[in-house]
Amino acid sequence: MRDLPVTVTVPETVPETGEQPLHLLILGGTTESRRLAEALHGRTRFRVTTSLAGRVARPVPPPGDVRVGGFGGADGLARWLREHRVDALIDATHPFAATISHNAALAAASTRVPLLALRRPSWEPVAGDDWRTVGSLDEAAEALRGLGARRVFLTTGRMGLAAFAHLDGPWFLVRSVDAPEPPCPARTEVLLDRGPFTLDGEREILRRHRIDAVVTKDSGGAATAPKLTAAREAGVPVVVVRRPPVPEGVAVAETVEDAVEWVTHFCG
Ligand code: NAP
Repeated sequence: MRDLPVTVTVPETVPETGEQPLHLLILGGTTESRRLAEALHGRTRFRVTTSLAGRVARPVPPPGDVRVGGFGGADGLARWLREHRVDALIDATHPFAATISHNAALAAASTRVPLLALRRPSWEPVAGDDWRTVGSLDEAAEALRGLGARRVFLTTGRMGLAAFAHLDGPWFLVRSVDAPEPPCPARTEVLLDRGPFTLDGEREILRRHRIDAVVTKDSGGAATAPKLTAAREAGVPVVVVRRPPVPEGVAVAETVEDAVEWVTHFCG
């Protein structure tokens, strides 16, 4: 696993007199999307707009322009790109936000707007980890059954808990930024919190709640990784949901620095 850079510096380039700034649309909702907006904002070459889905009640706003809400599918996004004269599109959404990434690929292809996907690297198991890798939340629920888990730390976010709702045996500690949407498992306690999380904090959660299984998406990144270390130390198995693939043919950057490089190269 590679840590994401905290600060990014790129050589400043000033456009020739009279040149319009290039309009960059960042599809956001992640720490990396905000860092990318911070890295590009204020450069006279660029005008940055970040798009948020509007799922989180109080998002940390990125610098630059912000728009909120869906576009109305791939056609709606393509229309937005044309109407707002977008010069480049960066899909910096969460690795599990597959629909918007698919729509971005379709919209970029139909409008011929260059597209980059910014995806933090996947987590990789290390010696001592006990991971059960699965392809979906439904498979994660099956894996919990197979493990005979009694007390589960469920960290897959507030959406998709329906996949676990039929499990009436285990008790679940669900951690999410905003309250989860029903249906949820019958025996659920909710912990509202937003990363980054510390190793000490994660150790304490596993200990205090006597957790015997953790469920996570392969989100990658440092902010939510300490739970993996805490689980390894405690000998607790982790059910890891595999990521959906990036749409075929889309260029990928793994770090904010690489994304800035792509943007500056493209704009050069
Ligand atoms: P999704 O299933 O891929 O997208 C569902 C719909 O939400 C899209 O079709 C689009 O509506 C709208 N949408 C998604 N991201 C958008 C954005 N950045 N700007 C404008 N509209 C957006 O996405 P999701 O999994 O529900 O995630 C929603 C947002 O939360 C994403 O932006 C993602 O970065 C963030 N997020 C997701 C997760 C996760 O685990 N999935 C975790 C952390 C953060 P239209 O079709 O109407 O355009």
